[in-house]
Amino acid sequence: MIPVTSFAGHEVAVFGLGASGRSSCQALLAGGARLAAWDDGEAARAAATAEGIHIVDLANADWSKFAVLILAPGVPLTHPEPHWTVKRAREVGIEVIGDIELFFRERARLAPTSQVICITGTNGKSTTTALIAHTLAAAGADVQMGGNIGVPVLELAPPDVRRIHVLEMSTFQIDLTPSLAPTVGVHLNLSADHLDRHGTMSRYVAIKESLIERSAAAVIGIDDPLSSAIADRAADDGVPVTAISSLGVRASDVPLFYGEDDHLHFAAVDALDVDVGSLAGIGSLRGRHNMQNALAALAVARLALPERELADHVAAFRSFPGLPHRMEDVGRKGKVLFINDSKATNADSTEKALTSWPRDIYWILGGTPKEGGITPLAPCFPRIAKAYLIGKSADDFARTLDGHVPYEHAGTIDKALAAAARDADASGASEPVVLLSPACASYDQFKSYVHRGDVFRALVADLIKSGEGG
Ligand code: ADP
Repeated sequence: MIPVTSFAGHEVAVFGLGASGRSSCQALLAGGARLAAWDDGEAARAAATAEGIHIVDLANADWSKFAVLILAPGVPLTHPEPHWTVKRAREVGIEVIGDIELFFRERARLAPTSQVICITGTNGKSTTTALIAHTLAAAGADVQMGGNIGVPVLELAPPDVRRIHVLEMSTFQIDLTPSLAPTVGVHLNLSADHLDRHGTMSRYVAIKESLIERSAAAVIGIDDPLSSAIADRAADDGVPVTAISSLGVRASDVPLFYGEDDHLHFAAVDALDVDVGSLAGIGSLRGRHNMQNALAALAVARLALPERELADHVAAFRSFPGLPHRMEDVGRKGKVLFINDSKATNADSTEKALTSWPRDIYWILGGTPKEGGITPLAPCFPRIAKAYLIGKSADDFARTLDGHVPYEHAGTIDKALAAAARDADASGASEPVVLLSPACASYDQFKSYVHRGDVFRALVADLIKSGEGG
């Protein structure tokens, strides 16, 4: 834990008592602050009370005595409209900040030159964060990973000149971190996302860009026009930019990492291109999107550990286990490979999965559909041997597939898996894949995408075990 000393002796209001809110409370208490903490949810309040956190109904509190409001990142700061706690904080003229801001203030005090790598973008943040942490740790660095992924930042070990913090940052967290000062800021890509929470695309872009503007060095994906413009502006403003392109886009005046087929290349300014290795055969980094994530990790590793050979970092990618529920390899039975991509809750994410294999995909899909359904996936249909429909979207998706892809109404995930495994095994294909990539939210049949993926993984394990038994 990182005790937060910046509010020692002061009273702090905390709203939102999920994991990160509760860790803020513990860190503030350890640093000598007094707390008034609240959450609208009874369960969250009970969890906080069990940890010894003082619950105060902030709606009826005297706000003039608070020094600051610590807001959980899930609570609206601006859109669709500021939360009532934010309005109260503004009325009494106190700051509204998040846990990562508290981290940066402690870092300024404890180890201002320690390395902090912050990763943002619309897609691929978690994978890239985990891959960077894995790669730096494989090179022997003392790495702490957290933020929007896994562990709340204040539960990590404290900043230290010999330690590297690798933090995933959502747009909400950037917005709550005015002292953000990454040694390396990573921005992967931009597409419309969460606009309900950020108002307009231009505001969404501006928040992502603000991370880069405050970075001592930046790694920026240039495969979409908005991100490419961010890279240009940052370079013009004097930020040392390394560009990355999974599409082989060239940038002439900054160092560039680019992908060509499975290979990662480095092009230093005014130097010959070097082929630094390949992603072929790395199951946890399948697909074009993971080339972007791998290029970002390689570019960061070069900046964070300049003495290491680039090829050694690529070699470390081979042992990257990947993240659960994102194209996760959950087993093999005979020639059939089983993949859990439960995190794919929309067509865009599922497209990444479907384009990772050229053919022989036995596709399990469905749930609570998103607008547009699976219509945008039509170009991938030739890769699919058969589809197995589950959940609420079944009739709608059946209409889209009709005449293009053979399908059956499986209804539930267990029936879908049994049918897909049977058909894949009986097919003449040499490497068929049973892929759960639902292109839907999970709430009609599961608690969350994590629950859906966990159920699938357990079912696959049973299936494999039953095969071993006879
Ligand atoms: P995030 O943390 O930004 O949500 P994840 O690493 O958890 O991203 O990946 C979520 C999904 O986004 C993956 O299952 C994949 O479909 C897609 N994805 C991952 N990396 C990228 C990328 N670089 N570009 C586009 N889509 C990606």
